[in-house]
Amino acid sequence: MKKQTQLISSGRDKKFTQGVVNPVVQRASTVVFDSVAEFKDAAKNRGNHALFYGRRGTTTHFALQQAIAQLEGGAGCALYPSGAAAISNSLLSFVKAGDHILMMDNAYEPTRDFCDKVLAGLGVTTTYYDPQIGADISTLFQENTKVLFMESPGSITMEIQDVPAMVAEAKAHNIMTMLDNTYGNGMHFRPLEHGVDISIQAATKYIVGHSDVMMGVSVANEQHWPVLREQSYLLGQCCSADDAYLALRGLRTMAVRLQQHERSALQVAKWLQSHPLVDHVRHPALESCPGHVFFKRDFDGSNGLFSIVMKEGTQQALDALVESLHHFKMGFSWGGFESLITTNLSMKALRSETSWQYGPVVRLHIGLEDVDDLIADLSQGLDVYANALANK
Ligand SMILES: *Cc1c(COP(=O)(O)O)cnc(C)c1O
Repeated sequence: MKKQTQLISSGRDKKFTQGVVNPVVQRASTVVFDSVAEFKDAAKNRGNHALFYGRRGTTTHFALQQAIAQLEGGAGCALYPSGAAAISNSLLSFVKAGDHILMMDNAYEPTRDFCDKVLAGLGVTTTYYDPQIGADISTLFQENTKVLFMESPGSITMEIQDVPAMVAEAKAHNIMTMLDNTYGNGMHFRPLEHGVDISIQAATKYIVGHSDVMMGVSVANEQHWPVLREQSYLLGQCCSADDAYLALRGLRTMAVRLQQHERSALQVAKWLQSHPLVDHVRHPALESCPGHVFFKRDFDGSNGLFSIVMKEGTQQALDALVESLHHFKMGFSWGGFESLITTNLSMKALRSETSWQYGPVVRLHIGLEDVDDLIADLSQGLDVYANALANK
């Protein structure tokens, strides 16, 4: 079955829907049992989608967990109140004092901060690595290395990693692997098929798809699911049934939304490629993106997110660009129906192992607006940028 078809049918067993199209929203803290036998049965099956206690989830959560586990091809899916919580709790579930982890240098900024500010305090050390390191990642393995963490493409600068080569090295040394798959999303990249142990997504992005819910999901393989499930429960991780419902609703239209995001973003990216102010475009499907060969080999498609690297710039010019735009709003996150823009004058402050010898970076999320309107908006915005540079 194609993924697009699976998204329509997954998580819609009658036990979740009670005979209508969508799963019912079952809000609960307490679950009540009619007999001691029923209670004992629930206790025995509490890790396996049986009603036990609200924090273990209700049928609404079970439907979503089943659908996401199927999407990513894993044994089970843990739900978290945000993508950041999914990342921090997946790591916390498997590391202990004295352990060492490997983290790419272009990590999502809060992931990096979590390592430096929380894990470091717990006695877990982090080594940052060049995202293009490939099989040479083994040169950074230590006796106490527990987790190799990946994010591909990386945040803002979009480098794509050679995941299979890195996973092969990690496996040979008995090191666990996790990957922030918010970009690849299960539709375009499925880390578990490449041997990764845990695939993490900010469901806040394309799964929810409408910029109205925060949620994180972690899908584990057979070997790691029981530990991830129980540790996340002990760490108190859960989300509301209403949010789980909205995430499921987003999932139903995700494949068609992605097709439109992909088509429009490619059109905008190609137009920007020939713009005189642009040094190069970091769109995974274009050759100018570092690691593009791995994208071509491992991914089934792209989405609405990419970055452009400017030839030159000033903070004043970047601010003038952002303020001139009508359809691109300034704001964090991405994956909703709307277009967004963020800017970084330099990437230097966010890197420790790799250098940044280029100009400012403008990250765009191409939404579901008409693409000609978006290009016209960017065109006038870049004129404003050029004027601000000329007047500096
Ligand atoms: C947004 C994002 C996150 C964090 O998700 P939240 O739901 O905002 O906490 C993690 N990783 C990546 C790559 C992201 O883009």
